[in-house]
Amino acid sequence: MSLDPADWNQTRATGRRMVDDMLGWLETVRDRPAWTSVPAEVKARFALPVPRQGAPLEAVYDDFLRDVLPYPTGNVHPRFWGWVMGTGTTTGVLAELLAATMNPHLAGYDQSAALVERQVIAWLVELMGFPSDASGLLVSGGTEANINGLMAARVAKAGWDVRAEGLRAGPPLTLYGSAETHSWINTACETMGLGRQAFRVITTGDDYRIDVAACRARIDADIAAGLRPIAIVANAGTVGTGATDDLVALRALADEKDLWLHVDGAFGALVAWTPSRAMVAGLETADSLAFDLHKWGYMPYEVGVALTRRADAQTAAYQPAGGAPAYLKSPDGGIAVDTTYFADRGLQLSRGFRALKVWMSMKEQGVDALGAAMQENIDQARRLGERVAAHADLELLAPVTLNIVCLRYAPAGLPEAALNALNQAILVALQERGIAVPSQTMLQGRFAIRVCITNHRSRDEDFDVLVEAVAAIGPELAAR
Ligand SMILES: *Cc1c(COP(=O)(O)O)cnc(C)c1O
Repeated sequence: MSLDPADWNQTRATGRRMVDDMLGWLETVRDRPAWTSVPAEVKARFALPVPRQGAPLEAVYDDFLRDVLPYPTGNVHPRFWGWVMGTGTTTGVLAELLAATMNPHLAGYDQSAALVERQVIAWLVELMGFPSDASGLLVSGGTEANINGLMAARVAKAGWDVRAEGLRAGPPLTLYGSAETHSWINTACETMGLGRQAFRVITTGDDYRIDVAACRARIDADIAAGLRPIAIVANAGTVGTGATDDLVALRALADEKDLWLHVDGAFGALVAWTPSRAMVAGLETADSLAFDLHKWGYMPYEVGVALTRRADAQTAAYQPAGGAPAYLKSPDGGIAVDTTYFADRGLQLSRGFRALKVWMSMKEQGVDALGAAMQENIDQARRLGERVAAHADLELLAPVTLNIVCLRYAPAGLPEAALNALNQAILVALQERGIAVPSQTMLQGRFAIRVCITNHRSRDEDFDVLVEAVAAIGPELAAR
């Protein structure tokens, strides 16, 4: 039984309406609130039973228009600056339609989609300053990209065949990175069976950059205790404040101790595409580099990138031992013959056509324009930081070094002890009133309203709205 439309013309008309509606929705995104909670009656409709019988596509689409479309995360909105979320590009939206239409399987194969991914990786290798024989893979996101790098590090630096014999066949493996490292590191250590304690948390200075001397001391102490250090995990753009570790010093330390240098550049690595690239100097010397394109690359979810100059270690970490199983082996001709077998570079065997939205967005916008949009975000953060610092009732809680501004409402006269709860309430009000969506973090015990700008739709006036709203909501809530 075919699941294709009974009436292609009808479906074509509905499809055209969808494309029209979606482009219109993006065009008018600024007119809507930055975020809206899902109302109870809408939530209730998501408890309906399994739809055993079908319905016309038009009716299903009406459900989407009524219950789904009006309640997005909000990251498409010009005043969404929460966590680290990308905005998406319109070209990316259309590319997803094209990619899903072709519906290719990207394990490898002799097909155009594999050439697209190969080309995208080659572009990214060049843009990040990696050698031309570096390897890469498009993955689900930063977490998977980071794990991909550490899996290669484990194979390269453990000193025995970890894949065959497991971790128990040698001394405990350890990793080193700053206290500002994103929580993916715990997921990685747990998933890899190393245990969270394998990650040695190194302190930072007031600039939130790793203390390199403390890192060296910890490595030495662990070696003396019989442990096996394998990698340093450096940050290019920490999630808290956007700080970048001294990558040059960490490369030297890794070389001195014969360790792998992995860089988590989830969003910070993209600075390499902007005029501010000196901020991430040394990035190109990493053994492996993880970054997202769905954050600061502005591409629609999901797409992260795992690059490595050690192509050998990447495949050694993932290629099936003893070669491909019989059902995957390539004969001497036909579709299964291909030089790039992406499935040997990472966790996924069945893989989708993530590369198309990247390829089309890069070609259509041009990488210089993407870099200029990121530079504009960096400049917006600096200007917002200056405004906050100059405002009598607002306080800047961390240096603005990249695209993150951590601030709070702290007028003279209010006791320090009241400020955390008050600023938390201000943040909730900003979100619930649909004004803007920053998120939060704690910095040295102080609650920060955290504005992370990875948004190509934000304009200066949007930050004016934020500053004025915080300054107005602060006294309103403080008076309660
Ligand atoms: C977002 C982020 C991650 C995780 O990336 P995902 O794409 O969410 O999996 C890792 N590190 C940093 C610094 C991040 O900002």
